[in-house]
Amino acid sequence: MERTLVLIKPDAIQRGLIGDIITRLERKGLKLIGMKMMNLDEATLDDHYRHLLDRPFFPRIKQFMRSAPVLALCWEGLECVETVRTLCGTTNSRKADPGTVRGDLGMSVQCNLVHASDSSQTAQEEITRFFRPDELFSYESVTDAVIYSSDERG
Ligand code: UDP
Ligand code: MG
Repeated sequence: MERTLVLIKPDAIQRGLIGDIITRLERKGLKLIGMKMMNLDEATLDDHYRHLLDRPFFPRIKQFMRSAPVLALCWEGLECVETVRTLCGTTNSRKADPGTVRGDLGMSVQCNLVHASDSSQTAQEEITRFFRPDELFSYESVTDAVIYSSDERG
């Protein structure tokens, strides 16, 4: 099974949307294997958003991400990187599809509630950035038998 990294961003923390966002991912059938509230430092954000280094909003997004704690979540599931990106919706919340986190709950590009890894490779890097190995939990999900078919479970 694939793993992905989700950050519940400061705007969602401030707005009391942690429960709503986690509920959506749980109800989808994803398995939560790590969860950690943290204040992000400058160096972590420089690394995490290095693909945006040249963009004019780079300092602003870092300031926003340090305005309150974030909640880091690690989820596991079949092809879950793509599935979670779909559930989050497109970057601009105003244009995100209804039914997605951003489409249902947000009005902003910057304050778009969640981060989700954009590829399997990025997910591995990001999980390592936010979690130590002993902060990730390996356990058998009793519901996987009814969430997936036998061939999907592998
Ligand atoms: N962002 C922004 N202005 C932009 C584009 C992005 O403030 O024009 C912020 C927004 O919070 C976004 C984050 O930078 O989630 C990372 O950008 P990316 O393009 O990776 O979007 P994502 O993968 O989060 O949809
Ligand atoms: Mg991104």
